[in-house]
Amino acid sequence: MIVVLNAGADAGVIRDIGAIARRAGLRTVADDPAKPRRLALVGAAPDPGGVLADELENLAMVSLVIREAGPAPLASRHFRPEPTAVRVGSLRIGGGNPPVLAAGPCAVESSEQLLSVAHAAVRAGASLLRGGAFKPRTSPYAFQGLGPEALRLLGEARAATGLPVVTEVLAPDLVELVSEVADMLQIGARNMQNYPLLAAAGASGRPVLLKRAPGATLEEWLLAAEYLLASGAPGVVLCERGLRHFDPSTRNILDLAGSLAVRELSHLPVIIDPSHATGRRDLVTPLALAGLAAGLDGVIVEVHPDPDAALSDGAQSLDLDGLSALADAIRKIGVSLATLDLDVASAGGSPGWVRAG
Ligand code: PEP
Ligand code: MN
Repeated sequence: MIVVLNAGADAGVIRDIGAIARRAGLRTVADDPAKPRRLALVGAAPDPGGVLADELENLAMVSLVIREAGPAPLASRHFRPEPTAVRVGSLRIGGGNPPVLAAGPCAVESSEQLLSVAHAAVRAGASLLRGGAFKPRTSPYAFQGLGPEALRLLGEARAATGLPVVTEVLAPDLVELVSEVADMLQIGARNMQNYPLLAAAGASGRPVLLKRAPGATLEEWLLAAEYLLASGAPGVVLCERGLRHFDPSTRNILDLAGSLAVRELSHLPVIIDPSHATGRRDLVTPLALAGLAAGLDGVIVEVHPDPDAALSDGAQSLDLDGLSALADAIRKIGVSLATLDLDVASAGGSPGWVRAG
């Protein structure tokens, strides 16, 4: 249930609504804690016969009660009718801002590897550096990532380039460690429905990049985002990275239609990952262009200085020239990418993230 407040609603009304919600076993979440215009009442308690909604509707400062806000109210357009911008350091993703290009290796392998990609990413106009420290690998015998050493290298790359960093967190007990370095936490496709992990990542204070599981419906994806938001995540960016399909010609199938359709339901920014969606570097640029031409909020691509020697996902990684060609192709279709104020971003040295609200 979502309560839409009148323009003149003051702290007293908000307190009253909070008290009514608590009596019913619910809690309120404000769209903007500094100046609430909408309050979501969330929790497990039902409202039989709409008694609670009737009571709220009769309050003087309430203009409307949305009784059916869907299964994921905080992620929904009922809560925030306009697209939200998610803040990562000095970068804004979504909310009508220019689309973001995120680039970096699948896995951090060495200082040289990461720094060469990070500098190429800056030259290409990327504004977010990706790189896995803890890798979710299908085989227990495959390279699992450098772990804490990779986190250290990501911090070094941020200091050298000013790019904020997104990296995956695999387990609840790693959230604190990863959050010390990451400007943004990535929840991988395999973990989209790992609810204790979502709760821990949401409570970390960091914005989250939420990959869609390869078999998840839009509703399941949004419910995963809801876990993050209900746990306090200051921002969530949805990332479509391909669905499972029948044809081995491509690793997954990019659900471009779903990426667009989810924006009808949700205010959250949506980006695509054409690297994991295809498994093929020759298809990364055309799909990235398709997503940007369709108006999505960004793309995230894997890049390696020597893809054939990569310890993971080399077949889908662009080399440094490929990244520069992607940037040229984006310019050619007339899309201007988000830019970072690199002087501001690198001045602090520590994660540039600021808690919302
Ligand atoms: C990755 O980003 O390297 C990754 C493992 O992605 P996904 O969770 O989408 O497979
Ligand atoms: Mn990968």
